Order: sequence, then structure tokens, then C-alpha cells
Amino acid sequence: MSFVIRNARIRGHKQSVDIAVDGEKISAVETNLPAKGATEIDAVGSLVLPGFFNLHYHADKCLLGEIMRPNVSGTLPEAIEITNEFKRKYDPAEVAARAVRTIETGVKNGTTFFRLFCDVGTIGGLQAARGLLLAREKMKKYCRIQVVAFPQEGIVRDPGAAELMDEAIREGCDIVGGLPWYEYTDEEARRHIDICFDLAKKYDLDIHMLVDDTDDANSRSLEYLALKTLREGFHGRVAASHCGAMAGYNDVYAAKIVDIVASAGVTISVNAHINLVCSARLDREPKRRGIARVKELLARGANVVTSQDDVNDPYYPFGKPDPLECAAMMAHVAQLTLPHELETVMDMVTVNSARAARVADYGIAPGMRADLVVVGAPSVHEALRVQPPRRHVFKDGREVARATLNQELLP
Ligand SMILES: [Zn+2]
Repeated sequence: MSFVIRNARIRGHKQSVDIAVDGEKISAVETNLPAKGATEIDAVGSLVLPGFFNLHYHADKCLLGEIMRPNVSGTLPEAIEITNEFKRKYDPAEVAARAVRTIETGVKNGTTFFRLFCDVGTIGGLQAARGLLLAREKMKKYCRIQVVAFPQEGIVRDPGAAELMDEAIREGCDIVGGLPWYEYTDEEARRHIDICFDLAKKYDLDIHMLVDDTDDANSRSLEYLALKTLREGFHGRVAASHCGAMAGYNDVYAAKIVDIVASAGVTISVNAHINLVCSARLDREPKRRGIARVKELLARGANVVTSQDDVNDPYYPFGKPDPLECAAMMAHVAQLTLPHELETVMDMVTVNSARAARVADYGIAPGMRADLVVVGAPSVHEALRVQPPRRHVFKDGREVARATLNQELLP
């Protein structure tokens, strides 16, 4: 047995348990496990979770905040324009270096799975994709990384982007991205979605798009995406991030869309903190939140996740990145504060994300992959409230990060 974590609290168990790991897998989860591990770790009653997910993260843009001009309007269009200035001179090694800096922090915070979005289009070509593929290679000991070929300037409105996406996939991207709402017309948004499905079918890949990330309630590409998912037999293989336009839908239309999304098994990634900063900038009062209808989606059984999206870039000046911080933000913005709702929020950065990424061997049970986080707090509530340093992080049964700094209150 490689190691045993003693005195661990795990979700759904009243008593502490011991978790034994053999090689890359969990071999036993029991109270008072008699067998000794080669290494013994005392969790001292701390919550142990399976590794966190960050399922939507623009790592190619991260930390541009250190060198960019400020986004004066705070809007998405200005953020896109600032990013374009950098993209024209992107170098894969420089993109990878920035990405690795924040991925390392994410791993220290317990993230063992990242879905990284790289801009693919005629402005930056394949430079961002190559940078993130390089980061994936550099970080493979520490975490699993998927790279999404993401058409940030659209597909129909950016002639050449479809061919570049195809090339990015052939160079190693794992997921087909999309940005249908950014096209000029509804018809072109639908064509955009069709092109993404053609690519996904051609290479047998899953799809993760940024959908209706606007305050315009008439932005309705989620409807077509969900229907297309149903009709193409892509159930459970499509994720849609943001979907802020849902906030402006009339309730009758919203109920219909929530129903189709749930039926199609489309995962909705609500990066609440980003929308809170970027959405409704043009509203006076009352200011909308621009957040997808999280409670209605959950009530209908849709899969909802939350992820980091941005770290110190033209869109958002913060981000550690830490899935616990994202989850706590989600609890605030979607008003998920009851005890069972906090559990749901924790699901969003763990099991719901694993479902979206179709990772089967995920969880704390014998036979599951030993991606584990010893959180440093005794419960989900305390983990979200305190967001303590992660005591230990394991990927495939190997310790990849450890907290070493202890803060003390002096007499
Ligand atoms: Zn995004």
C-alpha cells in the first residue's frame, strides 16, 4: 500500500475514515483500517475531497493584467480588443509560461483537472493553442489538462477560423470550442454551431462553447445548441458556459429552455464572479446580475458547474485561481446558502464537473483514481467559508502539493 490518509472526513459519512491508496488508485475506504501504508498521513479530521476541477479557464490570457492597459469600460468588447493587441504578437513559450504560473497555483489549491481554452482565429493563429499544448505537456505530472480550440473572434465572421480550429485539433486540442452568440446574426450563430458539431463528429470530440454571454435576452443560441445536442445524439457531451442572457428571458421561454438543456444533458458552466463583473455594465438601476438561472436549472436536474474562467486579464482583475473561491462566489451570486445548497455548490467544482468531462473513475471509493485534496477544514461549509490552505494534494496517487506555511496568532 503506497499510503494511508487517517482521520479523514469525507462527504456523506458521519464518522472519520481512513483512505488507503495503492499505486494510482484508492484501494480501501474504512473506519480504523488495520493495514499500514508505506507513508501515513494524518488528516486530523479534515475534509478530504476528490481533486477539484476548473472546467473553463482562459489560461492563454491569464496575467495579461500585469502588462495591459486598463479595461476602462469594463465590458467584454473592450476586453476582446485589449486581448487582440497581445494576440497579434503571441509567442507559444510566453503563453505557456504565464499559463504554467497559474496552473501551478491551481494545483496547490487542489485542482487536478483543468479545461483550458485557447483562442484560435485569424488574429493569433495557432500561437495560443501551441502555448497551452506546451503548458499541458509541462504540467502533466501535476494535473490532467484538456485544451479547447476556442474561436474567440467567431467562425462565420472570421473567415479562416474553421480551418484553424481543424488544424488546432490535429495539433492536439481535445475539445471543440464555440462562441455562437458573437456572430452577427441568429442564422450565422446557428451556422457556427453546425460547424462545431461537424468538427466534433469528424474527430469524435466533446464540445464546450461560450453561449449567450450577453445582457441581450434575444441572444438565443442556447436553444439551438441544446436541440442540436439532442438531435445529433451528443447527450452528456456538450457544455455551455455563461448563458447570462437567460437572466433576461421571459419566464415561459426560460422554462422551455431549461427543460431542453436538461433533456439534452448539456452542462451549464456558470462563472458567476466573472458575469458579476462584466455583465450589465450599461444598466443604470436596477443593475442585473447577468447570471444563468441556476436554481431553475438545478430544480430541473440539469448539470451545473462553476469554474474560474479568468485570472487577472482584460476581463477580470482577480482569481487565485481556487475552485473553493469560485464555489463560494457561486453560493453568493446564485443565493445558494442553505446547508444542502452548499453541498450542491461543492458538487459544482467536483462531481458535476467530472460528469461534464466524462471522467468515470472519480470519487472517494475503492477503485477510483487517487486524485485527492486534504482541504484543511472539517466540513464543506467551513471549507467554503475559510478557504484554507490545502494540506496535501495528490494526483494519481502521488503527492503533488503540500501546504507548509502556518500562521499563528502571537500572544
Ligand atoms: Zn470564458
